[in-house]
Amino acid sequence: MLEQTPGFAHAHRSETRCRSCGGSNLTEVLDLGETPLADRLISAKHLDEPEPRFPLRVAFCDECALVQIIDTINAHMLFDEEYPYYSSFSPALLAHSKANVEALIKERALGPDALVIELASNDGYLLKNYVEAGIPVLGIDPATGPAEAAMAIGVPTLKTFFTAELARRLVAEGKRADVIHANNVLAHVPDLNGFVQGLRETLKDDGVAVIEVPYLKCLIDHLEFDTIYHEHMCYFSVSALDNLFRRNGLYLNHIQHLSIHGGSLRLFVERTEHPKASIRDQLAIERAEGVDRIDYFRSFARRVAEVRADLLKLLHKLKSQGASLAAYGAAAKGATLINYVGLGADLIDFVVDRNVHKQGRYMPGQKIPILPPEALLERKPDYVLVLAWNFIDEIAAQQRAYLDQGGRFVIPVPNPRIYAGRLQEGMASA
Ligand SMILES: [Zn+2]
Repeated sequence: MLEQTPGFAHAHRSETRCRSCGGSNLTEVLDLGETPLADRLISAKHLDEPEPRFPLRVAFCDECALVQIIDTINAHMLFDEEYPYYSSFSPALLAHSKANVEALIKERALGPDALVIELASNDGYLLKNYVEAGIPVLGIDPATGPAEAAMAIGVPTLKTFFTAELARRLVAEGKRADVIHANNVLAHVPDLNGFVQGLRETLKDDGVAVIEVPYLKCLIDHLEFDTIYHEHMCYFSVSALDNLFRRNGLYLNHIQHLSIHGGSLRLFVERTEHPKASIRDQLAIERAEGVDRIDYFRSFARRVAEVRADLLKLLHKLKSQGASLAAYGAAAKGATLINYVGLGADLIDFVVDRNVHKQGRYMPGQKIPILPPEALLERKPDYVLVLAWNFIDEIAAQQRAYLDQGGRFVIPVPNPRIYAGRLQEGMASA
């Protein structure tokens, strides 16, 4: 049942034009209903206040192939000062970033004369690797807490959004970059073309932008619908990215496939065009499978609805057998999942998360309390629904004691199932 949300209507706008090419042929491919903002965890003192909910609809652009949400929320509402995400809470992410930095330092022979900029630099988790190697850096991030944490570990950080205007200011100050990192930020950008133009201006002539984005093809093929939320305005295929960069005088020259976040792309973007086979091959795959056409998305909504039905059936079956349930991972994707599927406090007793900034708060919409991971051993729920399934190996290793004592994980997508040590095993009979 949807709550009424008086007073928040001004914060929502429905787009009629594509965020990338400006075209007006947007075709809806999925409607996730009215959901609360996925990153907006609730503190105890705000628990009884009305919570804003907004439509969450996904569309495909016939002209440039970009998949995007139709519903835009005011940026100040989306990314407020309490934004609780700190990259350094994930060991897997830290290792992933360090390896990326070491390869770039070597390949591009970066030294004390170089400049590396990171957009959405968070708590300095990535740039600190350059600082340790004696390479000058500049972080840019609007979130107060993480930006202050970055400065405390010696990563200079501008506390602001990256825009074309900021790019011009940096260039005027002589700050052009050899490398610009932008991991998991492109999907959050309201003005895509302005952002990409800013990237181009800030790059040295021979500089490279290294950009990570979740890959649309993985989202669709593996039914990762929970990665859709208002903060993620766009979902990128290589075809759509090629169109976006080319329009703004940048060229997608190489990609790497990454397993992080359910399947991501690492893009290497430069001011001159010299595409490697990785680009030509992936564009050919997308054309052959039709990722650049609407037909590819026609069955998506039906398949997502099936995941919802199967997950509800499995959890209700466990509950009816007397089992107690908790969940792991108070991330935005978890909020999308519990709100779209309709998993409330009647099914899920509590959610655990390692991030101390999230503990003591409540999940958006369903208002389930968030506790430290130790609660799994203290309270011993029979099953734990892993909302952060993209970090399943890391979570399974951390929660070895819980699993050894007979606890079981439930994996929600692409087919809801009980986890028995490996992702391939334990297909549920639901
Ligand atoms: Zn378009």
